[in-house]
Parts: sequence; structure tokens; C-alpha cells
Amino acid sequence: MFMGNNYRSWVEIDLDVLVSNLRIYKGKLRENTEIMAVVKADAYGHGDLEITKCLSTHGVRYFAVSNIDEAVGLRLNGFGGEILILGYTPTGRLVDVYKHNITQTLLSEEYAKAAVASGYPIKCQFAIDTGMRRIGLNADDLLYCENVIKQYAKRLRLNGLFTHLCVADGSDEASVDFTREQIYKFKSVANSVRDLCLPYIHYQNSAGGLFHFIESSSFVRLGVILYGLKPGKESVLPQGIKPVMSWKSVIATVLDLEKGETVSYGRTYKAKRRMKIAAVPTGYADGYSRLLSNKGYVLVNGKVAPIVGQICMDQMLIDVSEIPDVKLETEVVLLGRSGSFHITADNLADMYGTIGYEVITGVSKRVARIYHQSPSPLI
Ligand SMILES: *Cc1c(COP(=O)(O)O)cnc(C)c1O
Repeated sequence: MFMGNNYRSWVEIDLDVLVSNLRIYKGKLRENTEIMAVVKADAYGHGDLEITKCLSTHGVRYFAVSNIDEAVGLRLNGFGGEILILGYTPTGRLVDVYKHNITQTLLSEEYAKAAVASGYPIKCQFAIDTGMRRIGLNADDLLYCENVIKQYAKRLRLNGLFTHLCVADGSDEASVDFTREQIYKFKSVANSVRDLCLPYIHYQNSAGGLFHFIESSSFVRLGVILYGLKPGKESVLPQGIKPVMSWKSVIATVLDLEKGETVSYGRTYKAKRRMKIAAVPTGYADGYSRLLSNKGYVLVNGKVAPIVGQICMDQMLIDVSEIPDVKLETEVVLLGRSGSFHITADNLADMYGTIGYEVITGVSKRVARIYHQSPSPLI
């Protein structure tokens, strides 16, 4: 019976690794610190429904997304837990925030005023700007923050405050000082409104959570490290943390190239000798950056296969001259392990000057998501 391969380009999401990462971080936090899992951007490309479901089965009770569509998407798929929208929601859609019992971030005094004007008594948290200079009440004016928070706590259902650290991944003195300063400013604001007894006071992202000198707050908002990536170049992940995602494709064709022949659009690669190349049906429309043309590499049968020529929209070409046993539907690893080699999202990112976050969130919708999870023992 012919059992063909079913997939063209796919990411494998290992939920066992996700759970193991979660356990490792939990073990590092103070007992009364809760993890707020950041599942924005489709859980950093991993699939927010599956990730949220898996994490909530394993004790995570609070989730953060970036926008109203992500939040409503989770609700419509039956997720009933706490959801915080970290960013802007169009004021015309605060009705959905209310209707679906979602918590909205208040971006400014002006935004809070608009929220009151909408007439929906939404659950909300104030963002406090301690140095990111993006959203939130400016913590440099403590009195202003106190007044605004107290004023709107009465008019909306305010349940928390948070700030965002912008260089917590840096280990140089200036970065460490800046982070300390951000935390100090945030705590001053939180302290000025402590009589409101707001239950959700949080300031740590992944990088902040890895920052050992910081005592934990009641919540840490963990994003990228749950998925097994480093928040910054200099970050050191705890032992045992692994990437949750790997990305694979297959060989579609194998062909011989004569010396002097060129490959792909623009003829940017010219064979210096006779060689064997292969077409792989993954391209920049799948989120594999075209900037990796003639630069990146993939893994085939435990060996490195360099990308040759321009990456196309739907395909790329690789040099398999030195790799035995390459044929139709041989597996190609774009991200992940093969033999003794491992390509991480951070490796790929380094090759074209970006960060791992952009690589994993960039895997496009048309790439299949395949989930692995060992059957869990009944608890
Ligand atoms: C994205 C985001 C996070 C998570 O960041 P990581 O670096 O992935 O941990 C936390 N807080 C806010 C406000 C965010 O926007």
C-alpha cells in the first residue's frame, strides 16, 4: 500500500517540551508567584488554542494576548479563564471586551476616559510607563499617576497595574541600572495606590523573570522563554529548557547542476563544479525569510545543506552534493535537530540580523501545525 507523505511544510510543536519548560520555570519562582502565559501572536506562532489549552491543564490560570481578536478567538473556542489584552483595543470594540469578560489595558488617561465614555464597565489594568516610552501613565509624575489611577478605579473595574521592562535582557551595568530604576518607579506608583488593594501588580517579562536579583512579583508574564527561546543574546536559560517548535519540509526534486550553471531568480548562484541540488517546497511566503538567500542552511539526513540562490515565494534550493540518500520526500529540517546538528530560531535570526521572536512569529498560516503530546497519566 502506498503511504505518501501528507505535508509540504510543517512545524512540529512538542507540548511535552512546553510542559517541561513550564515546570522548570515554576521551580525557579517563589511559591506565591503565578505565571501569566503570554500567548499573543498565535502563541508566538505555536497556535494559541492548543498552547492555552495545554498550559491551563497544567495549572496556568492567567493568559495575555495583544489584541481583541486574539482574546475573542480564545473565548469563542471555549476558553473561560482570565485574559488580559496587553495593547490597544479600538474603542468601538470595548463592547466585546465587556461581553466576553476580558481585561483591557488602559493605555493612557485619554484611553481610560474613552473607556468610561463607552459605557461598558470593563475589567481593566493601567499600564505604567517606566521607561519604555510606548504606552502607560508616565511614572515620573507620581502624583499624576496616583490621581488618575484612583479616579478611574472608581469608574471602571480596575484590578491591576503593570509595567514593561525594556532592557532586562542586558547584563551591562547601564542596563541593570535602568531595569532597577524601572522597577523602583513602578513600585512607587503601586505603593501610592496600595489602599486600592489591586490584586494584579506585575512587571516581569521573560528577561525580567530570569533576572535573579529581582524578587518576584505576584505575577510574571512569560512569553518567549516558555517556548524555549532566549529573550536576549546574553540571556542564559535554565538547564533543561528546550525549543518547543521545530520546522520541517521535504525534498521535492533532486537535480544535477553542471559547472557554470546558475540557480533560481536573478541567477545569483553559479555552480563552481558539478553539483547536486534539491528543491524544497518552503519559501518566503511560508515565513522563511528571503534574506537567507545564499546565506542560510538546512539539515538533511544529519548533514548541513546550504541554501543556494534566491529563496522563492514557495520554494528554495539547497546544495545536497555531499549528502547521500537524498530523494523525493526525504525530510528537511529548517529549525530543529538532525543528527548532531541543531538549528535554533536564534541561529536563524542571527544569520539575517533579527531576533528569534521574529522567526517563530513569522511562520505563516499556511504552514501546518502538528502537535505532539504523550498521553498524560490520569492525575
Ligand atoms: C510580549 C510581552 C511580554 C512577553 O515578553 P517575552 O519577552 O516574550 O517574555 C510581556 N509583557 C508585555 C507587556 C508584552 O508585550
